[in-house]
Amino acid sequence: MAAIDGLPPLRDVIARFGLDARKALGQNFLLDLNLTQKIARTAGPLEDATVIEVGPGPGGLTRAILSLGARKLVAIERDSRCLPALDEVSAHYPGRLTVIEGDALKVDFAALAAEHGDGGPVRIIANLPYNVGTQLLVNWLTPSAWPPFWASMTLMFQREVGLRIVASEDDDHYGRLGVLAGWRTDARLAFDVPPQAFTPPPKVTSTVVHLEPIVAPIPCDIAKLERLTQAAFGQRRKMLRQSVKSLGGEALLTRAAIDPQRRAETLSVEEFCRLANAL
Ligand code: SAM
Repeated sequence: MAAIDGLPPLRDVIARFGLDARKALGQNFLLDLNLTQKIARTAGPLEDATVIEVGPGPGGLTRAILSLGARKLVAIERDSRCLPALDEVSAHYPGRLTVIEGDALKVDFAALAAEHGDGGPVRIIANLPYNVGTQLLVNWLTPSAWPPFWASMTLMFQREVGLRIVASEDDDHYGRLGVLAGWRTDARLAFDVPPQAFTPPPKVTSTVVHLEPIVAPIPCDIAKLERLTQAAFGQRRKMLRQSVKSLGGEALLTRAAIDPQRRAETLSVEEFCRLANAL
């Protein structure tokens, strides 16, 4: 029995349900429930929250979230082999866990939150599959309406990706992700998780990132911002007058009062928004 909830240890769950990890599904499981509780705690108070989790797998993080009192948890899992194990967690926490079998990339999360939310904050907490994690984050950062349906996101990424999310100008990791996250959120690295904490261990260190929406980000058109960051960071070592040539080059930069000789990685989020607004 695991100390946090009286359910069987995850190692036994994995053996009983034959959940050998599949690389194609980005399966690196966390079996230490103290660690999964630490991740869940990073999200903030859960008692009045509706939590959305992507990729519950055998249920380590799921159990932590429920043990810390989340009123409601909706989890989306692509691997049907995990469903019987998650049914046991559901039975242990009656009426609090809903598991949806499917591909998170195809889920309308705002609709899901509206359906399952009951007025409290919606928190996204996930140890994301590495192959779809960045795309999910970008989807959650780019709805047309803002503030979004979520009050916080606490997400595990490869450390390299985490560094890109929290990066600001004059940092080698600064790029499209840093501009998007910096524009609309307060994002911070919470803590690192070493490879050996996972089963099987991935090749690299992971990190937990916590993001909260900025209530009133600088007004700016997302599609234009995306086109600009793509062009500017696509040739990040070149001067901007060259890298954004196809979008107006020197004339555009002059209109936005930005020196055409600068490089993408020196521009603040505010300057990127100014450029997007000048497009
Ligand atoms: N939450 C568990 C943990 O922390 O031990 C498992 C995390 S594992 C890194 C990623 C999980 O996401 C796996 O259970 C995998 O089956 C699931 N997954 C992979 N691709 C998915 C997708 N497109 N939609 C939903 N779940 C997915």
